[in-house]
Amino acid sequence: MIIKPKIRGFICVTAHPEGCAAHVQEWINHVKAKGPIANGPKRVLVVGSSMGYGLASRITAAFGSGAATMGVFFERPSEEGRPATPGWYNSIAFTQAARKAGLYARNFMGDAFSVDIKRQVVEAIKADLGQIDLVVYSLASPRRTHPVTGAVHKSVLKPIGAPYTNKTVDTDRGVVSEVTIEPASEAEIADTVTVMGGQDWELWMQALGEAKLLAPGAQSVAYSYIGPEVTWDIYKNGTIGMAKNDLERAAKAINAQLKANGNGRAFISVNKALVTQSSSAIPVVPLYIAILYKLMKARGTHEGCIEQMQRLFAQQIYGPKAATFDDGGRVRVDDLEMIPEIQNAVRQIWPTVTTENLEAVTDIAGYRTEFLKLFGFGLAGVNYDAETEPHVPMN
Ligand code: NAD
Repeated sequence: MIIKPKIRGFICVTAHPEGCAAHVQEWINHVKAKGPIANGPKRVLVVGSSMGYGLASRITAAFGSGAATMGVFFERPSEEGRPATPGWYNSIAFTQAARKAGLYARNFMGDAFSVDIKRQVVEAIKADLGQIDLVVYSLASPRRTHPVTGAVHKSVLKPIGAPYTNKTVDTDRGVVSEVTIEPASEAEIADTVTVMGGQDWELWMQALGEAKLLAPGAQSVAYSYIGPEVTWDIYKNGTIGMAKNDLERAAKAINAQLKANGNGRAFISVNKALVTQSSSAIPVVPLYIAILYKLMKARGTHEGCIEQMQRLFAQQIYGPKAATFDDGGRVRVDDLEMIPEIQNAVRQIWPTVTTENLEAVTDIAGYRTEFLKLFGFGLAGVNYDAETEPHVPMN
């Protein structure tokens, strides 16, 4: 079939297999061009490995330090005549490239929150890898079925305490408008913490620890975001921010566990705001990203997921110098986003943005290009007018 983008709100309901493969290859090429990461990890588990920061982490581990990788993800498989979600194609493309390069790669498609997937991964590590050097926890999910109670918790992106009104953009239609989001209830806050907080990360580390699958000195990292004040009501001080506080709590608990295991460590890396499937669902944030991209590209400091993760691995986790932590014990690869020159410029542009000047004062065009790339569209060398087979089996 001929596969074209079909955008519905902040999601594209189609994905292009060859385009996704070309996107994965671009990321692999970046990591290879940066050269080997000396002392990098050799056996890596990535939870949330098919898209965004998790996929970039897996590619960096494999092609930067020759790691054997296991990836856990939740995607809709392809069917006859119906494309999969893009992470399905990304994972196939990654696995093919890794195996071609002589690297072990194994995939677990299912619910990372479940006891069953954890058990499958534990058994596979025992059988294939023995132990793990690095666990990357990069889930972004709208819901979690609790493994003990069976209750389904849904995360929400809402402010806390009072309604929040700010500018937002419909990235597809290019319309800037004002949005008011009502505050979350106590139950919604608790549910968001249950889904996006640190409990599941702890359960993963507990399962691996109990089975003695963490190599001495093993490390673990999970990802967070802080961002500028203009987004704080909806992000840092909102429901998702409460979940991220819980992730930080979990980081400290896991750090103690890993420290006792041959002086390993666990920490949070605060990453840059980027176009991903998850960030595009947050009100207000896409407008901020469109302004940020314009400013960082002009300054020559713009990075995508792969540049961020390659830098995190090569300069922080496995860098030649000791990793640098902020006052809260977090690594900051959002450093270039947060410099005062950039943030002062965002503050100046923000009140001036309208539907009419959107193209001129923001990089909405770059936002759209990146958004389409997430689904495998707009990649060089791919013929989008040609027939392509959407049904691709997982390897
Ligand atoms: P993403 O949407 O690109 O990827 C999410 C991944 O989680 C996918 O691989 C998906 O398959 C997997 N997943 C979701 N639910 C799952 C489930 N139940 N079981 C197994 N796998 C599941 O997300 P992202 O933007 O890369 O976010 C990853 C992490 O990085 C999150 O913690 C997010 O808060 C953080 N982060 C994102 C940004 C940003 O701007 N995008 C910035 C800083 C930090």
